[in-house]
Amino acid sequence: MTHGPGMNGLILDEPLLWEKGKKGRCGFSMVEQDVPEANLDNLENLLGDGPDFPDLSEIDVVRHYTRLSTWNFGVDTGMYPLGSCTMKYNPKINEKMAAMPGITTSHPLLEDKLSQGTLQIMFELQKFLAHITGMDAVSLQPAAGAQGELTGMQIFAAWFRKKGEKRNKILIPDTAHGTNPASAALCGFKPVAIKSGADGTLDVKVVTELMDEETVGIMLTNPNTLGLFEESIRDVTTIVHEKGGLVYCDGANMNAVMGVVDFKRCGIDVMHLNLHKTFSTPHGGGGPGAGPVCVVDQLKNFLPVPRVKHEKGRYYLEYDHPDSIGRLHAFFGNFGVLVRAYSYILSMGAGNLKKASQLAVLNANYVREAFRDVLHLAYDKPCMHECVFSDKMQHKYKVTTLDMAKRLIDHGYHPPTIYFPLVVPGAIMIEPTETENRDDLDQFVAVFKDVVREAKENSERLREAPTRTKLRRLDETRAARKPCLIG
Ligand SMILES: *Cc1c(COP(=O)(O)O)cnc(C)c1O
Repeated sequence: MTHGPGMNGLILDEPLLWEKGKKGRCGFSMVEQDVPEANLDNLENLLGDGPDFPDLSEIDVVRHYTRLSTWNFGVDTGMYPLGSCTMKYNPKINEKMAAMPGITTSHPLLEDKLSQGTLQIMFELQKFLAHITGMDAVSLQPAAGAQGELTGMQIFAAWFRKKGEKRNKILIPDTAHGTNPASAALCGFKPVAIKSGADGTLDVKVVTELMDEETVGIMLTNPNTLGLFEESIRDVTTIVHEKGGLVYCDGANMNAVMGVVDFKRCGIDVMHLNLHKTFSTPHGGGGPGAGPVCVVDQLKNFLPVPRVKHEKGRYYLEYDHPDSIGRLHAFFGNFGVLVRAYSYILSMGAGNLKKASQLAVLNANYVREAFRDVLHLAYDKPCMHECVFSDKMQHKYKVTTLDMAKRLIDHGYHPPTIYFPLVVPGAIMIEPTETENRDDLDQFVAVFKDVVREAKENSERLREAPTRTKLRRLDETRAARKPCLIG
């Protein structure tokens, strides 16, 4: 049979534009020439042949991009249960606000008096974030979570430099996101891994043993990367402070604790938030982000510049801070992300932000209980916004986490995060988020349970999955080592 365009019903196949083009096709008609033809030979000699763009008609181009757009999967298409990423649904009102002409046409070089509205958004967003975290001062400068970490580590370094103390180690739990040790190392600190306790959280005894006066402090994540709340947080921060150290908190998991945890009271000195995870910016495919940094009073002079100030009814930018770690980049980061967060916070209100966190925790625990008999639970205790399983119970059928994840795709589900955190071999990390309703969760659970049943009854089928996609299993190593960058 001739291979038609349909790979799977009406999911259409589509080649590269270079394969599709035919010499002489054109997407527009030129008006008839009414001036003498000019000789461009000299220009061609000067410019060369130019890039080899394919010749295409208008409908070739329209169909190409429309077909590609139907291959996308996002939270607007279906559940996106990636743990450690918070892929929740983001209300469209926030997109609408970020797209208002007054926002999209504002220019970063306009003087303060012509930018009062945008400055007010930044000023108020800083206040909201301080309030939500319990911290004293906020900078919106970092453009991603990882840049927030880097800012925090630079603040640590600046603090000890100012005090004239030489410290070069930093404690980081073995469950941490990979960016944590990377950010610390960029500031010259040697990461010292802390082994998690048997229950997946920080072991106070280990922290006590490792914290000394050559150590700048600790970089922890709360709730941590296993989706567990660090219950001994107050003891840990006290130990670090007693040795003159500082405490950094990676706040990427804020979705579980908005309006619930006061980080300053927990003893945190610096933390970052990922606005694109917790505060409503779609970020699949590595889209733009913002990683504001929140600090306690004693560290506020070290925050990056410019700072947004408000005095006598006027908003303005301030650059003159001798202790500041300086600028992180030109201008103000991904401003649209800040607008979405501002709009999300205002449209939700304090009570609903708290409720969103409570529902995120409820949904994760619902999923955790639902799989109790069919998947091995890495840490059997109530979780926060995400839960971690492993493929231990499927080993006897020679079925792995990857096999189950690929089979989920056949059933129309984006797989959860797999093989992370590294401390759980064969990890399956599910973050349902607060925006999935009970019917959708039940459907996801039912499908996942079918896949688990298949592992027992027809493991061969799982090892072949996915079978209903355009492409089957990809050679991920080759894709990373020898990427094909044509087209
Ligand atoms: C996502 C994430 C980061 C990094 O944030 P980016 O915005 O992707 O740079 C750091 N830590 C944790 C726990 C995360 O989940």
